[in-house]
Amino acid sequence: MRIFNKEIINKEGQEVELMGWVATRRDHGKIIFIDLRDKSGISQLVFTLENKEIYKTADKLRSEWVIRVKGEVKKRPKGMENPELETGQYEIAVNFLEILAESKTPPFDVSTDGYKVNEEIRMKYRYLDLRRPRLQKNLKLRAKFIKFIRDFLTEKGFVEIETPIITKSTPEGARDFIVPSRLQPGKFYALPQSPQQYKQLLMVSGFEKYFQIAKCFRDEDSRANRAYGEFTQLDLEMSFVEQNDILELTERLFTELIMQIFPEKKITQIPWPKINYHETIEKYGNDTPDIRKNKDDKNELGFAWVINFPLFTKQTEKDFFYGSGKSKWAPSHHMFTAPYPDDIKLLDTDPGKVRGLQHDMVLNGVEVGGGSIRIHDPKIQEKVFELIGFTKEQKGRFEHMLEAFNYGVPPHAGIALGLDRLIAILQNEPNIREIIAFPKTGDGRDLMMQAPSEVDKQQLDELGIKIKAKNSHINKAQPRS
Ligand code: ASP
Repeated sequence: MRIFNKEIINKEGQEVELMGWVATRRDHGKIIFIDLRDKSGISQLVFTLENKEIYKTADKLRSEWVIRVKGEVKKRPKGMENPELETGQYEIAVNFLEILAESKTPPFDVSTDGYKVNEEIRMKYRYLDLRRPRLQKNLKLRAKFIKFIRDFLTEKGFVEIETPIITKSTPEGARDFIVPSRLQPGKFYALPQSPQQYKQLLMVSGFEKYFQIAKCFRDEDSRANRAYGEFTQLDLEMSFVEQNDILELTERLFTELIMQIFPEKKITQIPWPKINYHETIEKYGNDTPDIRKNKDDKNELGFAWVINFPLFTKQTEKDFFYGSGKSKWAPSHHMFTAPYPDDIKLLDTDPGKVRGLQHDMVLNGVEVGGGSIRIHDPKIQEKVFELIGFTKEQKGRFEHMLEAFNYGVPPHAGIALGLDRLIAILQNEPNIREIIAFPKTGDGRDLMMQAPSEVDKQQLDELGIKIKAKNSHINKAQPRS
C-alpha cells in the first residue's frame, strides 16, 4: 500500500511503497540519489549497483517523471542527514522501480519559489507552476482559511446559500460581464458583481443569517490587490441587527482565525479601532488608514474599521452607469446603503451632508471589505435612486427589490470581504495571483486555457450576434471600484 513521503519517519526498517515526481537527481557514479516529491514533501531514494536492472532504469529518470518505488526505510549514514527536510534523517534503499509517466523537460524549475521566473511562462504552464512548494502551501492554507470561516459561521447559525452566476446586473460600481441569451435572442444575462440583491432578498425570505463564499465578477483593470475578472468574497447578511453586530461578528471571526491559523501574527489593536471617515482623511490623508506600529514587521496586522462615510460622493464621468452623468451624486458604497436615521431629512435639502451606515474593513492600509446597514423602506430606496440620477428605465431594473420590500422586509445589514486580498496579505504575498490557483494576466487573459477566444460562427448565429470590426468599440473609460 502506498504511503506518503512524510510518513517514512515512523517506518525505519520497514518495507514501504511510494509514488510521486522526480524532483532532483544526483548521480555519483556508483550511486544515484533521487529526491521524490509528493503532496506531503520529499524523501530521498537511493539506487546502487547492487541491483543493476533497477540502477539502469534509475539512470534514465529525469526531472518531473512520475514513478512508483518500493524499498526499505533506512537511517542515513552519519553526516549525510539533511536538517532542511522533514524526512532528512532517512532514505529509501530502492528494490523496485516503475516509471508511471515520463515528462518533457519542464520550462522552469518547480523547486524554487518562482518569483524570478517570467510571469507569462508561469501562467502558461500554471499546472507546473502549482507544483512549487510555495504555491502548494498557499493554496492549502487558503483551503484551511475558508474551512475555518465555514465552520465558524455555520456554528453561529448561518446558512450557506448559493446564488446564481447567470443572472442580472447587480451594480457595485464596476462594469458588468454580460452573457447573451440563446433562448431569448437579443437579451443578456450579467454575471453578478456580488450577490448583493440576492442576499437582501434572502433576508426578505426569512433566513436571517446567510453567508456564501461567493465568486464575484467585475470587468475592470486588475491591480496588485485585485485580480482581473473574478474574485472570491466572503459574503454575509443578517436580519434584525445593528452595525455593531456586524462589526463584532467579523472582528471575532478574524481574530480567532488569526490566532488559530497564523499564531505567529500579532494584531496591532484589539478591539479593532473604529475610525470616522473625516478623521482618517484628516489624520492619514486617505480612507484606508494603516494603523500598524511597525510597518516593516511582516507579522503585524493592523485591522481597523472606517465608519461614518458620507452616503454620497460627487459623481464623475467614471460613474457612467449611474444616471449617465445627469446627477451630482453617486453612492459612496452602493445604492442599497441606508442613511443615518437623523440625516434622512437632509436627503431633500443637503444630500452631500447625509452620513451613510457604511463600514469598511481595512488591514495594513488596504481595504479588504465593506458593507452597510441596508435601506429597507421602499420610499427611501426610491429617493436614493432619484438622487443618483436613475432614469425610469434604470429604476425599473430594481422593480423586484422595491416590490419585495412591500412584503414585510426585516431591517438587515451585511458585509463582504475580499478573500484573495486578505489571504495575500496574511501570507505576505506581493500579488494576489500567488494565492489564486488559475488567475488571469493583468490584461485579462488566461494564458493556459487561451481565453478569451473566438467562438464558432455557428455559436454566434444561434445567439444572433455579429462581430463588428475588432477593437473599434473598446471603451477605455474605467469605472471606479
Ligand atoms: N456587496 C458589497 C460588495 O461586494 C458588500 C456589501 O455591501 O455587503 O462590496
